[in-house]
Amino acid sequence: MQDQFFKEALTHKVFEYITKATDELGLDSYVIGGFVRDFILKRGNAKDIDVVTIGSGIELAQKVASLLPNKPKVQVFKTYGTAMLRFNDIEVEFVGARKESYTEESRNPEVSAGTLQDDQDRRDFTINALALSLNAKSFGKLLDPFDGIGDLDRKIIRTPLNPDITYSDDPLRMMRAIRFATQLNFTIEKTSLDAIQSNVERIKIITKERIVDEINKIMASPKPSIGFLLLEKTGLLNKILPELIALKGVEEVEGQTHKDNFYHTLEVVDNISENTNDVWLRWAALLHDIGKAPTKKFDKRNGWTFHSHEFVGSKMVYKLFKRLKMPLNNKMKFVQKMVLLSSRPIVLASEVTDSAVRRLIFDAGDDIDSLMTLCEADITTKNPKKFRRYHKNFEIVRQKIKEVEERDRVRNFQPPITGEEIMKTFNLKPCREIGQIKEAIKEAILEGEIPNEYEASYNFMLQKAKDIGLTAQTEI
Ligand code: ATP
Repeated sequence: MQDQFFKEALTHKVFEYITKATDELGLDSYVIGGFVRDFILKRGNAKDIDVVTIGSGIELAQKVASLLPNKPKVQVFKTYGTAMLRFNDIEVEFVGARKESYTEESRNPEVSAGTLQDDQDRRDFTINALALSLNAKSFGKLLDPFDGIGDLDRKIIRTPLNPDITYSDDPLRMMRAIRFATQLNFTIEKTSLDAIQSNVERIKIITKERIVDEINKIMASPKPSIGFLLLEKTGLLNKILPELIALKGVEEVEGQTHKDNFYHTLEVVDNISENTNDVWLRWAALLHDIGKAPTKKFDKRNGWTFHSHEFVGSKMVYKLFKRLKMPLNNKMKFVQKMVLLSSRPIVLASEVTDSAVRRLIFDAGDDIDSLMTLCEADITTKNPKKFRRYHKNFEIVRQKIKEVEERDRVRNFQPPITGEEIMKTFNLKPCREIGQIKEAIKEAILEGEIPNEYEASYNFMLQKAKDIGLTAQTEI
């Protein structure tokens, strides 16, 4: 490709200053990695720039900062020999070209100063090893020793050196390979894929946080199933999310089969990804059926059943998040809630009663739309007639939800009568009857026996109290 083409990549003002600093210090510098790759792929303007220099990255960063009009602060990471600065909307990281040597137990190598070629050799993939010169005399010249350009064109993930060594040295690269294949819709070259397969055990030296980081990037891709299928094929999924592997397979007893819940799950994740960018809702889709493996049973009368799989699944979510060191916060609770409620709208689809809709809104609260999105994504039938019918039913459910909400205001519903008021009315100290009355009022509202209003609830309370032998001290 022409140097002119690559000069287009370097139009941001910051490059002028890097070139000036580089030439003044008598160094050679290059922009390398994701920035160049994404420019060629036209993936939008990258905000992270990696600069490698044959010399000290820290010294270069300090020189650039001194030339820049805003005189930014340079953040120095001495242990890594890197430095970072911000200029306008851009973050630039500087590093000296290096050679790496690895030990068995760690993905953090011993490093020593090296040439550009050494630095390109240590890169994970050919498409991430592309470098553009930043010196004035060769500005925009491409250095591509492994034909990364060809691989971008062929849509191939390939390691610059022996893949077996590359993945064994730093097993995070296995996750990265699969993540890039998913994000870019690329194929992992056969020898690379084989090398991942034979290095699966090595994943144990990678921290859970880094693994989850890559999973989340796979999850945020347009078609996450690409990544999960590769994780499954290579054996990594069994190490990371064995709960999903347990969903694989179709069993047959007395001529009756059930669907393969692993492939079904991946379809649901892809479906939902067309309708939401919320990775936590996508996680909910990934985990919505995990309770099916431990609850699967066959009996002669009902065939295959998965009783309480939603409840069991929501408990498994906690364990899974904990094991993967994912935050045990509201996001986890959201995923649990989605899994727990994931079959509720489906039941509704066959008979849409007001009270069932009210209960659903009550239980899902503000997450009702997310839940409906999940349930619509769950429709993976290949029968076009059924597909249309199910979607139509969910449309009816959505419409009904809107009507009931407008009329009954049950989202984030608090019964209009508080425990305090019950105590005051009947001159009671805290006791079981208060809970009973409160629960009865809630039930009556959800069942549609009384409207969600104060006066109706008050009268209902009086009636209920009478039934259990209480008399009011005050009346409205
Ligand atoms: P993205 O920003 O989408 O993650 P990126 O390629 O910019 O893509 P970074 O993690 O920022 O990814 O890494 C920058 C560059 O550093 C990569 O392009 C690659 O050349 C190199 N690199 C990053 N991680 C590794 C690794 N584990 N092994 C070898 N090279 C790596």
